[in-house]
Amino acid sequence: MNEQVKILVDISKINLEQIEILLEQLGFQVVHNHEEVLILKQVQVNADYKALNRLDFVVSVEPMHQFKALEYLKRTFTLGESEIGKEFAVIAGPCAVESREQLFNIAHEIFQQGLSLLRGGTFKIRTSPYAFQGLGMDALQMLRDVADRYHMAIVSEVVDPQHARLAAPYIDCLQIGSRNMHNTALLRAAAATRKPILLKRGFASTIEEWLYAAEYLALEGAREVIFCERGIRTFEPSMRFTLDLAGAVLLKQRTGLPVFIDPSHATGNPNLITPLVLAARAAGLDGVMVEVHENPLVALSDGAQALDFPSLEDMLHALDSLSV
Ligand code: PEP
Ligand code: MN
Repeated sequence: MNEQVKILVDISKINLEQIEILLEQLGFQVVHNHEEVLILKQVQVNADYKALNRLDFVVSVEPMHQFKALEYLKRTFTLGESEIGKEFAVIAGPCAVESREQLFNIAHEIFQQGLSLLRGGTFKIRTSPYAFQGLGMDALQMLRDVADRYHMAIVSEVVDPQHARLAAPYIDCLQIGSRNMHNTALLRAAAATRKPILLKRGFASTIEEWLYAAEYLALEGAREVIFCERGIRTFEPSMRFTLDLAGAVLLKQRTGLPVFIDPSHATGNPNLITPLVLAARAAGLDGVMVEVHENPLVALSDGAQALDFPSLEDMLHALDSLSV
C-alpha cells in the first residue's frame, strides 16, 4: 500500500548496490537515498519492514507516518444509543426525506424494529439535475423532530462547507458522500463541527485516498469517524457498483477504526442486501447503512434498492441468528 519506510544503513559493511538488490528481493524499492539514509517503498504486499532490522547492515528502521492524525481517531464511541466499534450497528432510513409523513412513518417502523440510528437525505446530490433534489432545510427540521420523538440519532449527508455548518445542529452524525470524499473544504468544515462523521468511500477512490480523507478530518479535529464502503466502480454492469468487502476488511485490520458497509448503494439490489450484511458482520466489520422505504415503488429517489419494511425485518432476524 505504498507504505514508505526510512532506514539507516551502515555502508562500511556492504555497498549500496548490493543493498538495493537485497532489499528488492525482500519486496522493497529504494525511492530515495541520501548517504546512509534510504527511503523505501513497499512493492510486495507481504513485505515486512520490521524484518529489515534483522539485516546486519541496517542500523534502524522507521515507518514514515503518512497518516499521523489517524491515531487520534477513536476506535469506539457512542452515537445515540449505539456503541460504535463495540457492537454491530444498523443505520436505516430513506434515501431522502420526502415529507414529514413519510419520514415519521419510516422512523416509527424502524423504531418498532428496535433500531435507533436513522438516516435520511436532505440536500441530495443527484447525477441528474432533473431528479429530486431533496427538501433542504425543511427536511433537517423534520429529522430533528423525529429524532427527538423516537430518541434516535440522525445520520445525514452534508454537501458543502456552509451546509455542514448549517446542518450540524440538527443532526448527530454528518455523512460525507461518495462524490464528495475528495472535497477537502467540506471535510475540514465537517470536522470543525466536532460531530461524528460517516465518511463514504469515493466510488473511484483507493483505500489510501480514503485514508487521506480521514486524515484531513482528524487533522481538523474530528475524533469520531466511521468509514463506509459503498461500492466502487468496476467493469461489472450487473450491480450498481461493486462492494469492496475485502477493502473494508483491510481498512479495519489496518486501522482498527469503525468500518461499515452500505450495500444499498453498492448493489442497487435489495435482494443482495441481507447476504452482504451477514458477510460484513461475520468479517468483523462494525455496521451497515441500509435504505428503507415504506413503499419503494413510489420513492422519490433510489426506490429500486430500498428495503421495504418486511425485508428490513428479515434482515434483522438473519443478523440476530448470526449473533447467537
Ligand atoms: C446516500 O447515502 O444517500 C448517498 C448518496 O450515498 P453515496 O454518497 O454513497 O452515493
Ligand atoms: Mn440513496
